[in-house]
Amino acid sequence: MSGGNAIRGSRVGAGPVGEAERGEAAAREYVSYYCANHHVIRPAFSVDAEIPDEWDCPRCGLPANRNAENPPARPRTIPYKTHLAYVKERRSDDEAATILSEALTHLRERRANGEVIY
Ligand SMILES: [Zn+2]
Repeated sequence: MSGGNAIRGSRVGAGPVGEAERGEAAAREYVSYYCANHHVIRPAFSVDAEIPDEWDCPRCGLPANRNAENPPARPRTIPYKTHLAYVKERRSDDEAATILSEALTHLRERRANGEVIY
């Protein structure tokens, strides 16, 4: 890559006086990206910017590309688990019931002692 970019770098602040005040002076280009869930995202890029091949879909987090016919495949990632899901993995329901009843007993004791007032 060489040549053709002479204008780059001279643009900022080089425009006519008053341009900044009007805002939206920088030319923008909307680029469509497509994800595997058929979402279409149209982020805006400065015409001076390099347009990336992929973009993360803000709706589902999948990668999206500019090929509507062939969006990127879903990555095989481990789905996000909640803290509760991890806890449930470690504890059986019986254990959970025991833990809950212990906690309740403890709470009732504290309440009886006036340590907690709810
Ligand atoms: Zn999506």
